[in-house]
Amino acid sequence: MADSFGFSTRLIRESVAVDKQTGAANVPVYLSSTFHQKSFDQFGKYDYSRSGNPTREVLEQAIARLEGGVRGFAFASGMAAISTAFLLLSSGDHAVVPKNVYGGTFRILTQVLGRLGIEHTFVNMTDLDEVERAIRPNTKVIYIETPSNPTFRITDIHAISQIARTHRCYTFADNTFMSPVFQRPLALGADLVLHSATKFISGHSDVVAGLAVAGGEELAEKMYFLQNALGAVLGVQDAWLLLRGLKTLDVRIRRSAASARKIAGFLAEQPEVRHVYYPGLPDHPGHAVQARQSESGGAVLSFDLGNEAGARLFVDRVEIPVFAVSLGAVESILSYPPRMSHAELSPDEQKDAGISSGLLRLSVGLEDSEDLICDLRRGLSAVRESKNGAVRSGESCGRLS
Ligand code: PLP
Repeated sequence: MADSFGFSTRLIRESVAVDKQTGAANVPVYLSSTFHQKSFDQFGKYDYSRSGNPTREVLEQAIARLEGGVRGFAFASGMAAISTAFLLLSSGDHAVVPKNVYGGTFRILTQVLGRLGIEHTFVNMTDLDEVERAIRPNTKVIYIETPSNPTFRITDIHAISQIARTHRCYTFADNTFMSPVFQRPLALGADLVLHSATKFISGHSDVVAGLAVAGGEELAEKMYFLQNALGAVLGVQDAWLLLRGLKTLDVRIRRSAASARKIAGFLAEQPEVRHVYYPGLPDHPGHAVQARQSESGGAVLSFDLGNEAGARLFVDRVEIPVFAVSLGAVESILSYPPRMSHAELSPDEQKDAGISSGLLRLSVGLEDSEDLICDLRRGLSAVRESKNGAVRSGESCGRLS
């Protein structure tokens, strides 16, 4: 019944959760680590908050329904969710992973899971033949992240899930960049969806959190066991904040994505910009696949200013974006992937993943898009002046001048 509602209605219905006892419009923050049991023989639904907490449960049910899965899990960070998911594998198992995977996922694969005997092969996930060739008899997971970060390569979720199914392995999909508003990997054949909920789902740069949703009961059981066994659960107050974030997710990400599309078009026309990476642009190599599997190109884009010096000048000159790691917030966030999100990769690995020294990533926030474009224009003028040896121009942007 609920599924007949539009997605924005479902977001509100899932996250409001009127309290049955008091009628409060929001689920209470159940700050309790333990729960009284009725009698020696009669144990209630909750016993200890690592195993289950009523506030966290509302969030877990909400994300499960919104992603179209059977069960959701809330973790202390995106990496806690991803690490727990990889620990479904055992020593001697193998995972196929995109070479431009998020730096933290790269780190856990190369520096932790390898030590435990869990093997991996990095591939270009957009090349389905290469993915097939990387699969071994012990492959248990094909891990995807689409769009990938920071060069926005698009993986065909349905095609990869089909390959995984043929080889009897799982598909895990990191859906951080799109959120369930734009993309729902389980419906395209994936088995497990992962989120750094620190990003769009929280939306305000005030929570570090992770979410996972299992598409089937068997995987859900295994994930629940591991969530409880490893214990990297999300704190109750942060679970409540994520529920609040969910309520505005639809409007926030749509507004940011509309601005990102405008900004990508603007940057693509600027002579100082060597390349714009944004799957919403028609000349992006993954545009057709993106349009088939997602509702939008998203709210994050990258652009190449040619070299580190240009990137530095640009970052020094702009005034609106916060210069920081992370993305998906109400404020625009500018970052320099070679030294920030992807610092874990060696220079050769960065080159292989298409991360050039002039690359900047912009997560577009909720500021006025015209103000943002004006500010970016100002950043580009710094790059231009350095090339021409010109004096700084006195360009002004609305309120900032
Ligand atoms: N996946 C992606 C795509 C990310 O960008 C990040 C963090 O930036 C993570 C996972 C890890 O999430 P967290 O920082 O919440 O641990």
